[in-house]
Amino acid sequence: MKTTDEYRASLRDGRVVYYDGQRVPDVTAHPALRVAVDHAALDYAMAADPRFRALAVVPHPAGGEMSRYFAFPQTAEDLLARMELIETSTRLGGTVVPLLKEIGTDALFALHLVAHEADRARGTRYLDRVRAYHAHCRDRDLAMAVAQTDVKGDRGAGPADQAHPDYYLRVVEERDDGIVVRGAKMHTSVSMNANELIVLPTRAMGERDRAYAVAFAVPVATRGLTLVVSPYGDHAASSFDHPLSSRHRMTESLTVFDDVFVPRDRVFLQGEWEYAGPLARTFVEFHRFTAVSYKLPLVDLLVGAARLIAEYNGIERAGHVRDKITWLAAYAGTLRALTRMAALDCARGALGIAVPDPGTVNIAKLHFATQFHQAVAYVQEIAGGLLVTAPGEADWQQPATRPLLERYLGGKGVDAEARLRLLNLISDVTTSQLGGYHAVLAIHAEGSIEAEKLTIYRTAPMDRYVALAKELAGIAR
Ligand SMILES: Cc1cc2nc3c(=O)[nH]c(=O)nc-3n(C[C@H](O)[C@H](O)[C@H](O)COP(=O)(O)OP(=O)(O)OC[C@H]3O[C@@H](n4cnc5c(N)ncnc54)[C@H](O)[C@@H]3O)c2cc1C
Repeated sequence: MKTTDEYRASLRDGRVVYYDGQRVPDVTAHPALRVAVDHAALDYAMAADPRFRALAVVPHPAGGEMSRYFAFPQTAEDLLARMELIETSTRLGGTVVPLLKEIGTDALFALHLVAHEADRARGTRYLDRVRAYHAHCRDRDLAMAVAQTDVKGDRGAGPADQAHPDYYLRVVEERDDGIVVRGAKMHTSVSMNANELIVLPTRAMGERDRAYAVAFAVPVATRGLTLVVSPYGDHAASSFDHPLSSRHRMTESLTVFDDVFVPRDRVFLQGEWEYAGPLARTFVEFHRFTAVSYKLPLVDLLVGAARLIAEYNGIERAGHVRDKITWLAAYAGTLRALTRMAALDCARGALGIAVPDPGTVNIAKLHFATQFHQAVAYVQEIAGGLLVTAPGEADWQQPATRPLLERYLGGKGVDAEARLRLLNLISDVTTSQLGGYHAVLAIHAEGSIEAEKLTIYRTAPMDRYVALAKELAGIAR
């Protein structure tokens, strides 16, 4: 398995990354991007840390060890262990998931299932390629990003009906030894600091979309691949003012494929348009389970911070405050219960892979996403306006102003420093760029709220509900 230094060295490979208008020669040395690299390196650090080894590392089928992420979940217990690993790494990551293997293995599990199905129904030979690629990533302990979301142009039109043929990524040339692809994906998390990029279709497609029904993987340092990384989140230098975002960050890119050649053995879907939808959906079902697992530290933090600041502000006994903290505890508890239930109610799919229950996963994700802004509002209401008006670290270090801060900004039974540190933590996670990032992530990442509702409607046991209504109404048929 890789060390953190080997991971960093693996990113110095000539990849084409632009940030803030500049080409970045080495992402591990760039002052802003290095924060994201160091944050993500947590994945490798955990595997080497005796406190987390039992959780992060499992036996390799051929002997030796491998990251747990690459192990196929086969039982509810395996899914619960995966959930605990994701939750633990995100807690250590200050509410930001490392994501170096979580999302990539979600894609690999989905690729196994859909390749198996396509091979069976269509006589294709994708599963052997997927298996070989899985072994390639597992045995080199590689970090993987997943580029699924296309730029999409007109959301009301499918790939073949867009004004611009490249609003969805497509195959522009077929060669004996592989394919050439063109297009752009967006919002691609951890692409600038992963080794591999797994590309999946965004949506269900029709026969006319054949050229767009494509899935494959390439190393990030592939000719023709350009990453334009978003600067969002690049503001937090002081660990006093920004205790989380000064050390923890994930970046997204506009990921451009300018006639990228993909060798045949790395193509996992090419033209079988009927499987674009199932692949997109199967990936998302695994990924939403991953997502609700990495939301847990964030919602737990909101409850804990609200309770503590209520105490520091001397309002913990007030009825409306208890009411809001109770609501927050129920919000966090419901999310945890639903996440566990999605694992416990898993179905054993093809190839023995345990699939978290899609209905419950989507209910968990919908619960998290639709209540998150209310949760933030309650925490902010209890904390007070100092979240955005408090003096900063420089004033804390300044001999002329520090005594003033110490004298005036204490709370009930607490000194000014502890109270400011807690306020800064709440501010960082709810009002800073990290707070804004969490707010948008809650609504859009891992699929939109409406996509979650579609799955809930599709998977709900309506027959059972309707049968009960008929039975109690005395309707015979
Ligand atoms: C922080 C972050 C990280 C992400 N990481 C990744 C990643 O690593 N890999 C990846 O592939 N993707 C990633 N995503 C993308 C994420 O899955 C998308 O944001 C999500 O699918 C929504 O797509 P969109 O942002 O293009 O919004 P849009 O699709 O433009 O949605 C905007 C609104 O339009 C509505 N809408 C869209 N289409 C229709 C339609 N046909 N009919 C009616 N309403 C419609 C939506 O419901 C929504 O309300 C990430 C997103 C974020 C914010």
